[in-house]
Amino acid sequence: MDVKVLGIVGAGQMGSGIAQVAASHGLRVQLFDTSDALAETGMSRIRRQLDARVAKQKLASDQRDAILGRIATGSDEGLLGQADFVVEAATEDAGVKRDIFARLDACTPAHAVLATNTSAIPITKLAAATGRPEQVIGMHFMNPAPVMRLVEIIRGLQTSDATYDAARALAGHLDKEVIGASDMPGFIVNRMLIPFLNEACFALQESLGTPEDIDRGAKLGLNHPMGPLELADLIGLDTVLYMAEVLHRELGEDKYRPPTILRNHVAAGWLGRKTGRGFYIYD
Ligand code: NAD
Repeated sequence: MDVKVLGIVGAGQMGSGIAQVAASHGLRVQLFDTSDALAETGMSRIRRQLDARVAKQKLASDQRDAILGRIATGSDEGLLGQADFVVEAATEDAGVKRDIFARLDACTPAHAVLATNTSAIPITKLAAATGRPEQVIGMHFMNPAPVMRLVEIIRGLQTSDATYDAARALAGHLDKEVIGASDMPGFIVNRMLIPFLNEACFALQESLGTPEDIDRGAKLGLNHPMGPLELADLIGLDTVLYMAEVLHRELGEDKYRPPTILRNHVAAGWLGRKTGRGFYIYD
């Protein structure tokens, strides 16, 4: 399938990042959120990112303008009516995503592939909300999408070979490296990540060290580019909690149980960078 128009549902940090990547690789992008203001916030984030690249002379200003010119934003489902391929990147909540997939089935062209960027929700369950489960697939971009090379591609039980090939071709067009994963909770990357982030939260909860000490331990002792607590703040603590809950519920193992300190941060609205406070405070 030749993807010319990419629909993106959810203009948060992942949706806007994927939109930036796609428009930078010449695709027309339709960026949808629940209100025009939220969709425009995603567009502003892309503009800021591109402005920074122009300031560093990594991008010419006319290229920036051309990229921005390929992105349309809005909150009317009609926006997605010409999409060849949709990537859903809305809030990590199975109910919200199932509802979105049912709506996408109704408002997108019959040939369109419907992909989800979910971190942990089974693809087969989301596919079941549509009348085209063979055209539903997982495309799990990493954060930040414009920087990270990996995309995990996950086939649901009914995903067709043609849909898988279309997802791989799109990832290739976006200059991403692909790994394939089975439709199991957390797939490959988050199956490994959640026990690690959980353990860092337990270490903090048990006053083993300060957030800075714990993160420096991982950076200087394990050679990780980011510490687990700053990474959790970047991902969003609500998303981390939701992933841990899904893995714990579906796989039933203690190593995935969400720490109380994580639950309390989410209850307080301290969701990480996106709210200005998580395990750290941001300007
Ligand atoms: P976010 O909170 O930054 O953005 C979510 C966006 O979805 C918000 O703009 C919200 O308004 C929108 N939204 C909610 N309900 C919607 C609906 N019904 N229709 C359209 N838009 C709706 O979240 P995020 O970090 O961008 O995560 C989005 C998805 O990407 C989640 O599934 C998450 O698990 C996954 N993901 C996140 C990361 C990460 O590091 N944050 C990495 C990989 C994948």
